[in-house]
Amino acid sequence: MIHPAAHPLAWLDERAAARTDAGLRRRLRPRGPSGADTPIDLAGNDYLGLSDDPRVVAGGIEALRVWGAGSTGSRLVTGSTTLHRDLETELAGFCGFTDALVFSSGYTANLGVVTALTGPGALIVSDAASHASLVDACRLSRARVVVVPHADPDAVAGVLAARTEERALVVTDTVGSADGDLAPLRALHRACRAHGAVLLADEAHGLGVRGPGGRGLLAETGLAGQDDVVGTVTLSKALGSQGGAVLGPAAVIAHLVDAARSFIFDTGLAPAATGSALAALRVLAAEPERAADVLRVAAVLATAAGAAVPVSAVVPVVLGEPGPALAAATACLARGVHVGCFRPPSVPPGTSRLRLTARAGLPEADLRRATSVLTEVLDGVRAGSAR
Ligand code: PMP
Repeated sequence: MIHPAAHPLAWLDERAAARTDAGLRRRLRPRGPSGADTPIDLAGNDYLGLSDDPRVVAGGIEALRVWGAGSTGSRLVTGSTTLHRDLETELAGFCGFTDALVFSSGYTANLGVVTALTGPGALIVSDAASHASLVDACRLSRARVVVVPHADPDAVAGVLAARTEERALVVTDTVGSADGDLAPLRALHRACRAHGAVLLADEAHGLGVRGPGGRGLLAETGLAGQDDVVGTVTLSKALGSQGGAVLGPAAVIAHLVDAARSFIFDTGLAPAATGSALAALRVLAAEPERAADVLRVAAVLATAAGAAVPVSAVVPVVLGEPGPALAAATACLARGVHVGCFRPPSVPPGTSRLRLTARAGLPEADLRRATSVLTEVLDGVRAGSAR
């Protein structure tokens, strides 16, 4: 029989101390409302600068006024409004899919669609760099999960060819959340077609940035709307709001309504978030030049940081160990530039990095200031003298 002497949560202090020693401690830094001393934001995912766009804010306020603060229930009971349906219809149409289903987040959209399309007796082939929400979805599914090397369609085809399961799902991000790279979607889809599998691609970082007018990488590669392709999006990045959605054939969407547990047992997306996302989608549709501007800003940031030419809003500046990455991020913030700092477990060991994110319409003065800070700090860190 075990009679522990220590407090049952004493191990938390040990874990915290170990994380501090390894440079892996995280701290919340609540930001205040924007003001004169607000740092330049190169860390957030507001890629199109829509989160505080007056039209997007007004869309949220109007939805609050008409529908109230909460959606009042799960989507299947009282939580579906015509506003949710309008968003689904317009989102599907914009991205080139037949239908869509709005979830309370991109995370729950991934959990719902992966679990509902697989289950015991099915196979999931997951890219090694898949987002944590896809990883967790795979774990929840109770399917057999095979993780293949990143961006390796041949490996995917090999696993699909050797399978014994009838149903198979291939999952990947379209744009890497930490690397900002593009998945080889056409080759992955060819592998799926050849072996009777469905392709599920997460457009969290593709929507609003890649594809014609920001319609996403699935639209760019001609895969949107194919009958064996399913997409997921978040409403919280380029659309500046909150929530997520699954895009796909009507039969998939109908199945999710019946079977996706993170849809059925979750309260419907709040009206304000729904209304803001719909307003943002309309701004994006009316102003397609925003998507191209993100890539222009990303290229300027990458040049200043000595990083590779970016193909998305995400510009990784890999520095290796957590220490230098944290030192660089801290030095940037001290000079008024907020950059992301990704360390394990968000990225593999030895690849700790700054994660810079570009934003359409970043004022030229901010861009100039940011590039000079980045150059100065990174020169210092790379010379081993970060302070
Ligand atoms: N997928 C990817 C690739 C993401 O980067 C994120 C957000 N970090 C999500 C899904 C989850 O989306 P949400 O924040 O809307 O839950």
